[in-house]
Amino acid sequence: MNVHPLSSGPATPQQQGALEIVRRLQTAGFIAYFAGGCVRDLVMRRTPKDYDIATNAVPDKVIELFPESVAVGKSFGVIRARAADDWYEIATFRKDAAYTDGRHPESVTFSDPETDAQRRDFTLNALFYDPVRQELLDYVQGLDAIEKRLIKAVGNAEARFQEDRLRLLRAVRFAATLDFALEPATAAAIRTAAPGVATLSAERIREELTRLLTEAQRAGDALVLLRNLNLLEAILPEVDAMHGVEQPPEFHPEGDVFQHTVLMLNALHTTDPQLAWAVLLHDVGKPPTAQLKEGHWRFERHANIGALSAGRILERLRFSSEDRAAIEFMVGNHMRFADVKEMRLSTLRKLVGAPTFAKELVLHQLDCQASHRDMENYDYLVAFRDQVRSEPVLPAPWVNGRDIMQLGIPEGRDVGVWRQKAYEAQLEGTFPDREHLLAWLKSELAQGWNPEP
Ligand code: ATP
Ligand code: MG
Repeated sequence: MNVHPLSSGPATPQQQGALEIVRRLQTAGFIAYFAGGCVRDLVMRRTPKDYDIATNAVPDKVIELFPESVAVGKSFGVIRARAADDWYEIATFRKDAAYTDGRHPESVTFSDPETDAQRRDFTLNALFYDPVRQELLDYVQGLDAIEKRLIKAVGNAEARFQEDRLRLLRAVRFAATLDFALEPATAAAIRTAAPGVATLSAERIREELTRLLTEAQRAGDALVLLRNLNLLEAILPEVDAMHGVEQPPEFHPEGDVFQHTVLMLNALHTTDPQLAWAVLLHDVGKPPTAQLKEGHWRFERHANIGALSAGRILERLRFSSEDRAAIEFMVGNHMRFADVKEMRLSTLRKLVGAPTFAKELVLHQLDCQASHRDMENYDYLVAFRDQVRSEPVLPAPWVNGRDIMQLGIPEGRDVGVWRQKAYEAQLEGTFPDREHLLAWLKSELAQGWNPEP
């Protein structure tokens, strides 16, 4: 078959480990190849994330040859084995029996390389490579798809998406991360099968979308693709609803809320899921709050409403409570960035001191760049941040509860109120040090002022 040396440069330690596994299997008389995604990546001169090995050795034989191995999915014929300093998955060539739950085959039987290629999702993912003979094995014209930059289902596209709905999202992810197009029959089959995507587990949907948002070159185009394939309305109807929601052209010459979000996502390059989801969801409160007032579109309290909506979406997708809190906060807070120049110093310090501030600043920057392009507030915040960077962003309070009580306030709610008042004054920069602050508190208390609002 096709002689095709795939790596011209020196092998990475990870690749050497994979080669060691293949050699050991081949020396024992078995067929063994690099399989799937790693072959695709080697063909495309990308660095594979991991190397999977496929073999005709049955799991028990693999375990015999690799005493340090772990059977991760023995019924599926998958064994994890160690070589050099890495772990590798060694899978026995197989054929999947019928799929009944839209995700998993009922059972598998062991088979040969060609049959194993047939059960894989897309032709570009169904290649094998024999690194010893330096031979590429291409049973499904995967190389042709890579050359044409196409994602094409192996075999009958409709049947393949019926079997396993995760493939619907994987297709979009591969198209977006590799910058490939969907082969027309594959795209048509996805559109038909799209409503079924909602039956996937929340975790799988979350993982695929997060990878899409953080790995795509242009995550906005990926969002458009999801929408055009009817997938967006099935998994994120709240985001789909942004389409066609008009905005005042003086602030948003770029177009509707969806278009604005797409532009931001295309400009975003991040590996941070919280930031990516905050960008995706920052205006999710606009569709439900849109109102035409005196000929102008208004979205009153859309950040607050959006935070609530984001919270529900993230809960549905089973995000960790930490991620949910951070993303919700960023969505709810994003309109405050419009007022930074009018903010009191203490408020501004708290804004800049928030643990999410670095991400929020990126969100704000993209928000402005993808609309009116007025960067004054952004520049102001960057300058302020740089100015306070040398000092702790939120300094330790000079005055604590014990100090307040020593000034004569009895233990109780008022202590907290006065402590807060003292801290505000400190952050405001009203007094040069603790002594001046205490002296002021003393005089305030002597006047018997009630600090409660
Ligand atoms: P990456 O790891 O970069 O996301 P990959 O192609 O290696 O991409 P994996 O999820 O690691 O993807 O799977 C390895 C291989 O297993 C794939 O290349 C494909 O051949 C096969 N595969 C994975 N998931 C499926 C699926 N849902 N249906 C059919 N084949 C699959
Ligand atoms: Mg992989």
